[in-house]
Amino acid sequence: MSIDQFSFSANSITGESTLIYQDYARQVQKTKGIKIINFGIGQPDLPTFKRIREAAKKALDEGFTAYTSAYGIDELRQKIADYLSSKYDKVKKEEVIVTPGAKTALYLAFLLYINPGDEVILFDPSFYSYAEVVKMLGGVPVYVKMKFNESTGFSLNLSDVESKITKRTKMIVLNNPHNPTGMVFDPIEIEKLMQIAKERNVILLSDEIYDYFIYEGKMKSVLEDPEWRDYVIYVNGFSKTFSMTGWRLGYVVAKENVIKKMAALAANIYTCPTSFAQKGAIEAFNAFDEVKEMIALFKRRRDVMYEELKKIKGIQVYKSSGAFYMFPYVGEVLRKSNLSVKDFSLKLIEEKGVTTIPGEVFPLEVGKEFIRLSFAVNEDDIREGIKRMKEFIEMLMTP
Ligand code: PLP
Repeated sequence: MSIDQFSFSANSITGESTLIYQDYARQVQKTKGIKIINFGIGQPDLPTFKRIREAAKKALDEGFTAYTSAYGIDELRQKIADYLSSKYDKVKKEEVIVTPGAKTALYLAFLLYINPGDEVILFDPSFYSYAEVVKMLGGVPVYVKMKFNESTGFSLNLSDVESKITKRTKMIVLNNPHNPTGMVFDPIEIEKLMQIAKERNVILLSDEIYDYFIYEGKMKSVLEDPEWRDYVIYVNGFSKTFSMTGWRLGYVVAKENVIKKMAALAANIYTCPTSFAQKGAIEAFNAFDEVKEMIALFKRRRDVMYEELKKIKGIQVYKSSGAFYMFPYVGEVLRKSNLSVKDFSLKLIEEKGVTTIPGEVFPLEVGKEFIRLSFAVNEDDIREGIKRMKEFIEMLMTP
């Protein structure tokens, strides 16, 4: 047995994470000395709100440092349940498990249901980690291409979802608001998707981690359905709303029996989420004024980014309504310059010091003609970065 002979699961990881583009930018900064403008960032640029940090510090000082229950601490589970119950259908504490980040929540959900050969319907494009974990467990991602409209953005393409459901379909994965497109999907579409999942007996795994980042319109949550316990696994977390990415705290809501099974998996994988971080998260429920301020700031930044991107000839941009991403279409530039979207992003870093994420990071096909830009960046940098991007694209488009 060689030390380089890895498992099937390890070898199934094929995609790229967004991090390599930021690493490359760091390298370019060192060698060329230009200021990097980073639109590749997938987290709010503000520190975690003070009251949350203080609560975690207090917990540390008081010695709250031992293992907790695999479910997370009761007080936090109760806060989550109360918060969701105030917005949606009633959720009980026993229907919540706190996890180390939303990624772990998603992992537990996939691990709980996927057997080798099971199919999981994913929208194309989607957050890269869904497909990787499905493949890691021997499952088969089945992609539904979202429909693109130049002025309104993306929609879910529900007829295609229906036609792709087979006897082997275990799950449909929904992410709303959506990474990377910045869409908040039409509530009627979400309702129809919920109906399809129920009628066809498929689990609906709904990742609503950007649910506070809504700039226009109304978001429909799957937890609004009083029958959610029959078919929904709901995932959310503290990373984005409270700018707590490094704290690693997420959660799952599902019917009690499902949560019990997840806790059994959790106890054997990571024991429990970090004790004092959970105490900070309890305080997060008192930080909605700070969150609202952050959202207002992000809305202004989105508007600036949209107006600046519109000035670039050769790309198509719609105004995103949620999360903190813009996802412009660059297909024409790619054809004219004979570049893949990955090479486009790498060249943009190299020549102008601007980091974007090529859409191909978000599988499978659709993203190959789009780039993702995060507007979790200050306004001056947004203006400067888009100005540099404009110069770059003009250069590529000049015969
Ligand atoms: N789900 C989506 C759609 C995301 O974009 C991210 C992070 O980028 C996550 C889940 C992971 O969140 P966490 O940091 O809580 O693991």
